[in-house]
Amino acid sequence: MQNHPQLLRRPLPPKLPKLPLRKKKVHTEICVTENENVESVPKQSKPTLYEGLIKSRKKHESEASAMHGEGFKTVAATRYETITAMTNLAVVNCQIYGRNALNLKGFFIMNCPDLTPLAFQLIYLNLSFNDISSFPTEVFCLKHLQILILRNNPIKVIPSEIQQLKFLRVFNIAFNLITTLPPGLFSLLHLEELDISYNSIAFIPNEIQKLRSLKKLNVDGNDLTAFPPGILKLNLKKILFENNFTHPSLWKENSLNSPQRLTHLTSLFFLKNNLHKYYDAIPVKIQTLLNCTARCEWCHGPRFDGYRVIQSCNIFGVTHLPVMFHVCSSSCYRKVKEK
Ligand SMILES: [Zn+2]
Repeated sequence: MQNHPQLLRRPLPPKLPKLPLRKKKVHTEICVTENENVESVPKQSKPTLYEGLIKSRKKHESEASAMHGEGFKTVAATRYETITAMTNLAVVNCQIYGRNALNLKGFFIMNCPDLTPLAFQLIYLNLSFNDISSFPTEVFCLKHLQILILRNNPIKVIPSEIQQLKFLRVFNIAFNLITTLPPGLFSLLHLEELDISYNSIAFIPNEIQKLRSLKKLNVDGNDLTAFPPGILKLNLKKILFENNFTHPSLWKENSLNSPQRLTHLTSLFFLKNNLHKYYDAIPVKIQTLLNCTARCEWCHGPRFDGYRVIQSCNIFGVTHLPVMFHVCSSSCYRKVKEK
């Protein structure tokens, strides 16, 4: 059911700097060697320059693969330095010409360049199809950023500091390795489009209701079983949730309940009927039991463990959107079911 981000991320080749014809040939051959795992090739003579590599290949075809391996190391280092230099140049260019958009898509860079020179001018930043493994905190200096595209990277965590990007309207972090959504994400009051598809997210917090500007939500290809009730407070124009565990045939399994504990049942009865007033003093042990922190998502009264129940909603242009309620009692359970 779940797609594999790793497989989906592979096919797009990096945009490499244009090389002269002769060097291009070397580069093409090197890519082949890269796939053949150069590390296992025994070391032989060491041609250090492109020129040496080409000449050696012409003279000794039988030794070519070994020389390839060594050649790859030299060129690979050079290539990455070239790419880094190009990204830095792109930043300088952007600064000089006063541009508000920067596209570093498909460079396979491992780190975001320093963006402080663009702190007050950048509105659009595209870092998709790269090899960035931790969230590029360099973006937090961008005071007016509205569009941030990070799709197809191996990023594992979105830091809560993302709330610093106050004017963010579009955030795309599809095809990464995200498992949770931080509280700071839900402070982005101008966010209109959120694409978190093809990650490993199993749960969407109820705080999503705070994203009142949200128009489009894409959660395709995650581990979701249902949505929180807060989603019903949004005014979405489009929602995508294919390739999750949200099919109606799984709802029963996804909302299994254990019998409520007797202490929870009596505590709930005690609180709901305001029995405090009948007692002058309540023992500490009982007070601990009555210390309830959760709320029923249906009647908003106190809730101990309670029950989970999925309601099928036809909303935002889709049918059978599963919304999971955590409720206090069997009567609230029935009310959700009947609605
Ligand atoms: Zn309730």
